[in-house]
Order: sequence, then structure tokens, then C-alpha cells
Amino acid sequence: MLNRILATGLIALAPLTARADLVVLQYHHISEQTPASTSTTPELFRSHLARIGELGLEVVPLESATRAALDGTLNDQEQVAITFDDAYASVWSTAAPLLDELGLPYTIFVNTEAVGREGYMTWAQLKEARARTGVTIANHSHDHGHLARRPDESQQAWHRRASDSLDRAKAILDDRLGDTATLFAYPYGEYDSALEEMLDERNWLAYGQQSGPIGEGSDESRLPRFPMATPFGQLSSLNDKLRSRALPVDTGSLPDGIIDDNPPTLILELPEDLRPGALTCFGSGQGRLPLEAEHQAVTVQAPEPFGNRRFRYNCTYPAGEGRYYWFSQQWVDLSRPED
Ligand SMILES: [Zn+2]
Repeated sequence: MLNRILATGLIALAPLTARADLVVLQYHHISEQTPASTSTTPELFRSHLARIGELGLEVVPLESATRAALDGTLNDQEQVAITFDDAYASVWSTAAPLLDELGLPYTIFVNTEAVGREGYMTWAQLKEARARTGVTIANHSHDHGHLARRPDESQQAWHRRASDSLDRAKAILDDRLGDTATLFAYPYGEYDSALEEMLDERNWLAYGQQSGPIGEGSDESRLPRFPMATPFGQLSSLNDKLRSRALPVDTGSLPDGIIDDNPPTLILELPEDLRPGALTCFGSGQGRLPLEAEHQAVTVQAPEPFGNRRFRYNCTYPAGEGRYYWFSQQWVDLSRPED
């Protein structure tokens, strides 16, 4: 019991800077008619916006807020950015009117090959969106391919395929809409180190689909976002996500997540003022994971192999005032079929 009390005291004393981190929400369809795994119901989307308002969070443009979060110059107020991947028709028909009415900024990541197809926004709509205050149109590749290098693909073939998809989308967006933002969202949230390097060479900010807020220790080629499709975006966990803080680890030094071993091993080096015993990690479909700590190094490994192409280790740590540090490591098993 004494240990418990001491431990609780230690957590409360863990120093917290006043600085805020940036929470980025990721949506696809805002609809009841589309696949559940990539859809948020209009009712839930409205509830998300209401909750953001109730918590007094400021909704900010993605690019400037990301740069401020990375520089550690984000102001003290909690901030959130709203993003949509794939430019689906329901973003324009359902989400945009709600956001525009509230005067909230948002970003649409566009895979250019699909524009104008059934179920997707048209170029005229994207042009109209871009003309609106606070709306950013950004790059989600041309063909929405799995852009990490395939196991059977030569370096040269991969380089041509990936760079072509990135640069063609940017050229088309600039040509159709005028200069567009140098922001990129990985299709399926998948990346490897070589692809990250390609993004770094272009000096683009690149966003994944692993959860957590963006802070000073985040890496600009693997920026986290919280997936908000109905199965993940439930109101019960929304406050924790909206008020989360970036776990203070250097995420760029962590593995790119392309696995050799299944289950994979993650080693998190916690700063001196965080207690390894207070860290909690969960694995996709495997519940709470066993942790082993040696000084400040925490080793995380799931007991069982994972059967999916993508899975995650999600870790949280009490940050005081009912808030959590949050970090998610994504893993990709390239031997599993592409979706
Ligand atoms: Zn997508």
C-alpha cells in the first residue's frame, strides 16, 4: 500500500511543461452507407465537433500547427486539426457544410487518380473547397498504392513506383488547383525507412494512421493521427485522445515498423522523470502486453504472433490532471497480402 501511495505521488510530481501538443483527427467517409471500418456516422461526427467545442479546444490549420508542435512553439491552448483521406463524396456533401458553418479549418488528402470517380469528390468540388478559407488540399499519392517496398521488388523498381506516385499527385494537384501544400498522407498509413527518406528529401510533412498527438519528439516523416472511423472514434475514449500529450520519446529513432519477427519487439527509452512501471501498452487484438524494464528502457513484446498486415502497440502513461501521454508504434507485415 505504501508503495502504491508513493507511486501515485511520484506520478503527480512528474514535471509537466505548459506547452500543448497537437491532436490530429483522421476521417474517411462521413456516412452511414459506406464500409464501417472507414466510415464515421454523421451523428458521431457532429458529436465529435460538439465535444471539441465543449472542451474549449482550438481547431487549427494542419500545416502551421504541425510545424509549431515540432518546434515546441505551439501556444498553451490545446489544439486539434481535422483531416480527411481519399476525398470521398460524403466529405463534401456532409462534413464540409458542418465545418464551414462553424468556420473550422480542415485538410483533405487527395489520391488524384480517383478524383471524379463515383463516390469521390470532383475537381470542381476540390477547386471550390480550396477557395474557401481554412481548407487545405494535400497529397495522398496518385494511385493510392502500398508504397513501402514490396519483398519481391527491386530497389530501382520501387523507387520509380513510389516517387512517381508522390510526384505525379503533387504535379496534378498544382496544375488543377494552383500551388498546393507540401503535406502527404501515406495510403493505408504504411511506410518504411526508404519511403520516409523520400518524403524527407522533398521536405514534405508526412502523416500516418498510428494514434497519438504530435509533439516536439515526433518525426516529420511519421506524424501520428487518431483514426476516427466509428469503431475507433467512440465518445467514451474521445476526451482521452483530444487531451492526450505526446509521450516524450524520440519517435524518429524507433523502428520503421516493417517486421522481421512476429511478434515484434519494441524498446522505448523513457526520460528520467517517467517511471517505467506506470507505462501501459496494448497490442491489437491481444489486450494488455507484458513489459520488461531495465532502468529507463522498457521492452514491449506481445505474447502471440499477429495475423494481420498492420497492427499496433499502443502505450499510455498518466500525465496528471486526468490526462495521458500517448504513443502508438505501427507494425507492417509485408508478407501478408495487400488490401
Ligand atoms: Zn487513403
